Amino acid sequence: MSSVLLAFSDTGGGHRAAATALRDALRSIAPATSLQAVDPYALSHRWPFDRLAGAYPRVVNGASWLWRGGFRLTDTVACTATLQTLAWPALRRTFRDLAAGAQPDVVVSTHPLLTAPLRRVFPDVPLVVVVTDLASGHASWYHRGAALLSVPTDIARARAIACGVPASRIEVHGVPVSPHFAAQPGDRAQLEERLGWSRVRPTLLLMGGGDGVGPLEQIAVALDAAGLSCDLAVVAGRNVALAERLRARAWRGTVHVYGFVQGLETMFRAASMVITKAGPGTISEAFAAGAPLVLTGAIPGQETGNVRFVVDAGAGVWAPSVAEVVSRARAWTEGPLAEAARGQAAAAALQLGKPQAARDIAVRVLALAERHRVLPTGGSADVRRRGNRAALPAVAPARSSRFAT
Ligand code: UDP
Repeated sequence: MSSVLLAFSDTGGGHRAAATALRDALRSIAPATSLQAVDPYALSHRWPFDRLAGAYPRVVNGASWLWRGGFRLTDTVACTATLQTLAWPALRRTFRDLAAGAQPDVVVSTHPLLTAPLRRVFPDVPLVVVVTDLASGHASWYHRGAALLSVPTDIARARAIACGVPASRIEVHGVPVSPHFAAQPGDRAQLEERLGWSRVRPTLLLMGGGDGVGPLEQIAVALDAAGLSCDLAVVAGRNVALAERLRARAWRGTVHVYGFVQGLETMFRAASMVITKAGPGTISEAFAAGAPLVLTGAIPGQETGNVRFVVDAGAGVWAPSVAEVVSRARAWTEGPLAEAARGQAAAAALQLGKPQAARDIAVRVLALAERHRVLPTGGSADVRRRGNRAALPAVAPARSSRFAT
């Protein structure tokens, strides 16, 4: 029985969602696998690492200029390596404790800032890095110490190579999403009924990542006031204050308000479009579900490239102001051409969908784990050396620092 350590971080919702999709895929392929999923930064007692998850939405929402500057300043391999060396004394205890309590055959990271410390405390264990940014991910993702770097797109692959990762260790799989997001033609009416949504009017799904960031309230109010012939579902995620404000409002039309929803697949498959910031998890789920996207904003740096990726493929539109969101929603819901235009974007989204990504990555993870398990400790370095030359063989929210495995 192999043992897998999955490390994620609750900065936003995408890293945990990717880890969860991988956990589920690992479980379904190899139920006997021993799985441990952990958010090391949440276990840390050292500032600022113990505050990352709470600070992230405040910074990207309220001080995006600061995030943009920090991203640009640090977005090189050399700078990343220096910062990680400087951070190590503050992280050492947390990661050593983690290593003392685990004997994995493979370590999987779904967050860029986890890779270097994991590499330090598990030097002989193969490390799989699952990159979740589609196009403009930070240099810290592309770690040369990874036995396998799973990237979502060819653009990310090129960036990884530019950062010095050997091409033989990079594989393009997609962002791991739950397979339940995959579109199943003809099931919309049933899903709408299950959700209590209208069977007559289209419902637009509005969200802002796991933390409910961005001008969701202004957009919801404007869409409602526009009197479009559609309903609205707003997912506030972990933004409890926003959910409360939205619930307290008197709406002109039908507006369904949700807090953090565990598993959004039913809504994605039932919605006529997804209106969202350019988060890679949400985008990948919308692709899998064949839902057209209205992108309302992007976290500077890591999400900037996602906008072009979506728009160039025809899977969505860019609407960076409230007025543009309303105008795009109108164009896709009203008039004789609306349904056809929406259908075209939905087809383009489906083309990009990779609902099998989690399964594909899980197969690779298990292959690495199995190799490490059968070759005792001394053999793992050998595995890493060979991994450099050849690709692996194919074989058949409340926050918490760990999740059920
Ligand atoms: N999400 C969720 N429930 C919610 C809101 C969001 O499960 O109520 C998930 C969503 O399905 C996606 C992730 O959170 O998988 C958001 O990831 P994304 O990369 O889009 O943005 P982030 O929150 O990481 O900035």
